[in-house]
Amino acid sequence: MSASWITVWFWPAIGLAFLVGIQAARWWHRRFRQSAGSVNREYFKGLNFLLNEEPDKAIEVFIKALEVDSETVELHLALGGLFRRKGQVDRATRIHQNLIARPSLTDEQRLQAIYELAQDYYKAGLLDRAENLFLELQESPSYRELALGGLSDLYQQEKEWAEAIKASRQQSGTNAKQNEGRIAHYWCELAELAMQSERFDDARKSLRNALSQNRRLVRAVLLRGELHYRQREFKRALELWQSVAAKDAAAATLYIQQIIRAFQQINDTAGLRDFLLHSSIVPREAPAFSAWLEALHANFASAQAKQHIFDRVKQEGLSGPVAEYLLSLSVTLSDEGSHSGSIGENLQQLAQDLLARAKDRRIEYTCQRCGFGTKSHYWLCPNCGGWDSFSV
Ligand SMILES: [Zn+2]
Repeated sequence: MSASWITVWFWPAIGLAFLVGIQAARWWHRRFRQSAGSVNREYFKGLNFLLNEEPDKAIEVFIKALEVDSETVELHLALGGLFRRKGQVDRATRIHQNLIARPSLTDEQRLQAIYELAQDYYKAGLLDRAENLFLELQESPSYRELALGGLSDLYQQEKEWAEAIKASRQQSGTNAKQNEGRIAHYWCELAELAMQSERFDDARKSLRNALSQNRRLVRAVLLRGELHYRQREFKRALELWQSVAAKDAAAATLYIQQIIRAFQQINDTAGLRDFLLHSSIVPREAPAFSAWLEALHANFASAQAKQHIFDRVKQEGLSGPVAEYLLSLSVTLSDEGSHSGSIGENLQQLAQDLLARAKDRRIEYTCQRCGFGTKSHYWLCPNCGGWDSFSV
């Protein structure tokens, strides 16, 4: 008996044995010594194959037994679900397809099997097939909510934002409440697409819808700023971005390059200097950090710019681009032999921190929901599908 057997199948098999036991007891009650005995034997034979790590033989036996006795639908559903959770989607699909083909199922059992199969297809990436089954299920009152939930996830994965909004909106009760956040992001996605193709009116409408779903959605306010920026309404764009910066400085750094450019476009040097001095966050991604650094050096004397960067870094910690900058600065300062003053003292400590954290350099953002680390910021976690899960 291998170790992998114990970890992978022990508890599921015990659970299944329990289900078989319950089923056997039911038959015993109902039929005494009728034909149940032979069916029972088939199930125990199947269980035995399962325990011996021969799942395909087990499935054969279970499916044959189902042809004789259709009272074991629950057992098949449990087994199919078990295979899917173990990532064995092909096997789950086979079991569920076979179940659906049985003419003796009740309507409720057939719906449940269809819902299970839809999830198998979804997990296997067969999104068209999953979509067809979810669409069929949404016609039935008892599966409508689940089917709509499945459709929202599916359209989100396919980036079909308008369809995702439609499906999410049709959900009711607590589901509808929970959907407000994601629907707002779907509108933001549509707004971004509209802006890319310069359909500014569509973008404006989408952002209005996003904010009516969630008035405090920072992303929508940032995008409204972008909409004005793209139309060369720089003052209005800056007002919006600065309103975000006042409450959530980190989120505003996602637009730091555009903010700097907007100040330059309207020749507001004093405004830019003020913004740079009071923005408390160091941009984490390389291009944004470079733009920030360049603006600091262009608008302040070299020593003042460096001191400002150090002060911010001391509060913020180190990101990859900052680390690279400080390393280069460390080399420059040693070359110049200028270790005096607070910059020189801090540099030693910072250089040590750099080395300790060098291995983390490629991760700037971490999903608060699943722990996934990325170099760039995402509104939708590519790993777990959570919205707004990366703290900026
Ligand atoms: Zn995640």
